[in-house]
Amino acid sequence: MNHTYNFSAGPAMIPARVLQQVRDDLPDWQGHGSSVMEISHRSSAFVTLARAVEEDLRALLEIPANYRVLFLQGGATQQFVQVPMNLVAPGQSADYLITGAWSAKAAEHAAAVATVRTAAQGADGFRAIPARDSWQLDADAAYLHYTSNETIHGVQFQGVPDVDVPLVVDMSSDILSGPLDVSRFGLIYACAQKNIGPSGLTLVIIRDDLLARSSAAMPAVFSFSAQAAQNSMLNTPNTFAWYVAGLVFRWLQEQGGLMAMDRRNRDKAKLLYDCVDASSFYVNQVDPGVRSLMNVPFQLADPALDGRFLEQATAAGLTGLKGHRAVGGMRASIYNAMPLAGVQALVDFMVDFERRNG
Ligand SMILES: *Cc1c(COP(=O)(O)O)cnc(C)c1O
Repeated sequence: MNHTYNFSAGPAMIPARVLQQVRDDLPDWQGHGSSVMEISHRSSAFVTLARAVEEDLRALLEIPANYRVLFLQGGATQQFVQVPMNLVAPGQSADYLITGAWSAKAAEHAAAVATVRTAAQGADGFRAIPARDSWQLDADAAYLHYTSNETIHGVQFQGVPDVDVPLVVDMSSDILSGPLDVSRFGLIYACAQKNIGPSGLTLVIIRDDLLARSSAAMPAVFSFSAQAAQNSMLNTPNTFAWYVAGLVFRWLQEQGGLMAMDRRNRDKAKLLYDCVDASSFYVNQVDPGVRSLMNVPFQLADPALDGRFLEQATAAGLTGLKGHRAVGGMRASIYNAMPLAGVQALVDFMVDFERRNG
């Protein structure tokens, strides 16, 4: 194993223990004489694995019995469209909270298949979340959609919004980062490549009454109810990513579960924000009340030093720090798999870089 700490926003770090397990399993999974990628998704070995992975996820998130878990493909972007296709009836509309680049994109994609209302629009730059009493909610909306953690802008909801319509959340970049009351939601979706495993797998956790909304006229491959009826195997699923996700779920259990991850993630984020706040050489412009525990964008006060910072960070084994072009500067993504030692190494580098260049 190398000693690089990868701060990429996604595809992101996978726990080293999981990668070692994948390496050991790869040529001969469970004595089948082939890798998990090379056996039928309909074999009893894979179906048994798939059920166990779902059970482990249900245990971690304490998912109530009236929710189905789907293991789909197409990424979160496909869910931007698939969610409204399934949940918005003709003549109905859906509400969206726009708090950053991803929720804006979700609303834009949804508008291709459904009527979309903007319930709240963050100000230019997306450095805060519009106050709850400013939201213009439609009591008849099919659902309210929001993005719990804005991966690009580093803005994270600090609790679950309290509303009267079903809540749909894009949790791509903070699912499993701490405990969650699933019963507050109608539907939760997340792509895997931030906090779960390899890209190409998308989790959908959907309450039974919303599952029943899928129209029978819809193409089956896009229908949540058709996918649920086939246990997410209407066609060939991403078997390898499903298997790796299962190893990550086991790893999370071994770490002490989601309460333990929450404590660890808070410690990591505090270390990094304290470093940024202690100096005028670095800045984070997000409202301190809604700063993300997962994605920490920060700028150098002198952007002329950006190139040197990135080059020297990479040489020090700290990779993936270049910020998104919409925000500029740097972004450190510190998902579950990033150890505290990785954040400490970044902070040590930042202090040293400032000393040499400040
Ligand atoms: C990464 C990300 C997406 C896009 O995911 P894809 O799998 O590339 O479609 C959507 N929403 C959020 C919050 C993300 O972090």
